[in-house]
Amino acid sequence: MASLTEKLESVIRTIPDYPKPGIEFRDITTLLGNARAFRRAVDELVQPWAGSKIDKVAGIEARGFILGGAVAHQLSAGFVPIRKKGKLPHETVRIAYSLEYGLDEIEMHRDAIHADERVILVDDLIATGGTAEAAVKLIQQIGAEVVAAVFVIDLPDLGGAPKLEALGVPVRTLVSFAGD
Ligand code: AMP
Repeated sequence: MASLTEKLESVIRTIPDYPKPGIEFRDITTLLGNARAFRRAVDELVQPWAGSKIDKVAGIEARGFILGGAVAHQLSAGFVPIRKKGKLPHETVRIAYSLEYGLDEIEMHRDAIHADERVILVDDLIATGGTAEAAVKLIQQIGAEVVAAVFVIDLPDLGGAPKLEALGVPVRTLVSFAGD
């Protein structure tokens, strides 16, 4: 019988050379469109924290919003969007992080997470970990605890998870694509 990992892997679509040559784009829209796979992925992501007190789930734009909303519902937690700069309407806290070429910034509403809160961070995929590392720092700067960071997909060769673990954040991933 196929393992959960094999089942989830089979519903993730790979698009070669997207958005540029040499990148294997891991497309989760096929997983999200499969009712059983979507439910199993969300159940599995939250399993270690089922029944524990989580105040907020923070999702990274944009696929982290879809998974994060479902994860927040499952944990009876609030949802907080972490967005590219300039998209949130109220007062924000912001952090810069490096991309392959240059810098980018993400932000969240200043009043979205409070100092004593327990937070789970969600995105679809961790590659270099640069985006998630910036999000962890943003949440930790407010004084909140990042209880875990969860992702459907890990690209382990790009070294993302150890960056978050170095900040004291446990990482949970469901499917690993080595060699990317
Ligand atoms: P990183 O900051 O390098 O960990 O990149 C993570 C972000 O980029 C996530 O929001 C992913 O959705 C996206 N991403 C990076 N590489 C890929 C890939 N090969 N396939 C799909 N999405 C990717």
